[in-house]
Amino acid sequence: MTTFQVSTANYAEAGSYLAGGVASSLRASMKPVPLYAESGKGSRIKDADGNEYIDYMLAYGPLILGHAHEGLTASIVEAMQKGYTYGIQHQGEIELARLLCEVLPCADKVSLSGSGTEAVMLALRLARAYTGKSKVIRFHGHYHGWSDSIFTSFPSADMKGHASSGSGSVLPGTNGQSESSLSDIILLPWNDPEVLESTLRERHAEIAAVITEPVMCNSGCIHPAPGYLELMRSLTKELGIVMIMDEVITGFRLAIGGAQERLGITPDLVTVGKALGGGIAISAVGGQEDIMKLIDGGTVSHLGTLNGNSVSTAAAIATIRELSKDNGAAYVQMERLTDKLTEGIRTLFAKHEVPAVVNQIGPVFNVMFTDEPEVIDFETYNKRDSAKYARFAELVLHEGVLLRPNGLWYLSAAHSESDIDGTLAAIDRVLPQLKS
Ligand code: PMP
Repeated sequence: MTTFQVSTANYAEAGSYLAGGVASSLRASMKPVPLYAESGKGSRIKDADGNEYIDYMLAYGPLILGHAHEGLTASIVEAMQKGYTYGIQHQGEIELARLLCEVLPCADKVSLSGSGTEAVMLALRLARAYTGKSKVIRFHGHYHGWSDSIFTSFPSADMKGHASSGSGSVLPGTNGQSESSLSDIILLPWNDPEVLESTLRERHAEIAAVITEPVMCNSGCIHPAPGYLELMRSLTKELGIVMIMDEVITGFRLAIGGAQERLGITPDLVTVGKALGGGIAISAVGGQEDIMKLIDGGTVSHLGTLNGNSVSTAAAIATIRELSKDNGAAYVQMERLTDKLTEGIRTLFAKHEVPAVVNQIGPVFNVMFTDEPEVIDFETYNKRDSAKYARFAELVLHEGVLLRPNGLWYLSAAHSESDIDGTLAAIDRVLPQLKS
């Protein structure tokens, strides 16, 4: 019997000192209690009660090489023994920047920050400076970090054909965020070519950028409709608007060059984070020379005390090198195992007559309990039974499988065939309980 006594006691204690009890708001939603980690190795994580899990949460995405990867750890330790951060420049920044320009199709130059949120902030600033315009199109169901200028609520109402800007229906994502912070945001439904084209044609004179997740990983792992990103690319080019691909999830995950490589669409700017550092905080913006050169001489300010610190650059260099080994063999293996896992999950749902949809791209997928035959947009995504999924996540936790409470699964290069077999066996055991 799995028990969570230590985690429960820790969480109670944390509540006395740590605002919200957790360090990032989303983590508080974990059931039966936010878990406390003891250690991780490879595909496994151990909690403070001594329970071990096969980890598909992977720290919300960064751990693409798994926990405590030997080569990555050695690179980090080697860097740390020479200091952690210098404030002056070091060779590692150049090496990482060169590597990023090699692997990211749209990058002539890059700029380094600490988190995905910061990378998005910089990309928006660059787009506005480059175009001299201020509005930004973003899409329902996408997430681009928690900064005030882009963080909106995830409305669950019927959004088909719904477009809005500024005052009115672009709602702040949190208390404490002024409504005016979103006055430059135009919120559109994603995957709707007519709405995109008519909005861009009507309002291009005021639109600086379109920011999109290339695959809607944050809401259902929904693929772009055929031709949709191509249309976005050609319209933004024609109308003098910067296309930003937010690859904080897909970067280094769908391929070494991310979704832009995999889907063959080259944006003007890309944001990457998460998997880039393999679990160490780092992010980057990459883009065309004529946009990135605005940072030269501080025309566009880009700041950050710990930007490009030697530990994070060493981690990112080691992660990219590891993922590039043997012509990207890690991607082939992750994808093969993910295919096996998603096929197995679908078969088990059919066997136990649990209506569900599994959307996948490469080593990332989303499991949704729904009566819909498919989940292809934010509307159908919103029809999923999220309470049932939370129960499912809790049931498999007792069987030694750690999942994010919202349906998104990641695989790492450390996951093995036996992890997949063990996970499928666990799901087979819990599904009868899910129906009751
Ligand atoms: N963009 C996307 C697409 C993301 O998924 C996230 C984080 N989940 C962010 C930006 C923000 O990244 P961070 O949490 O590192 O600030």
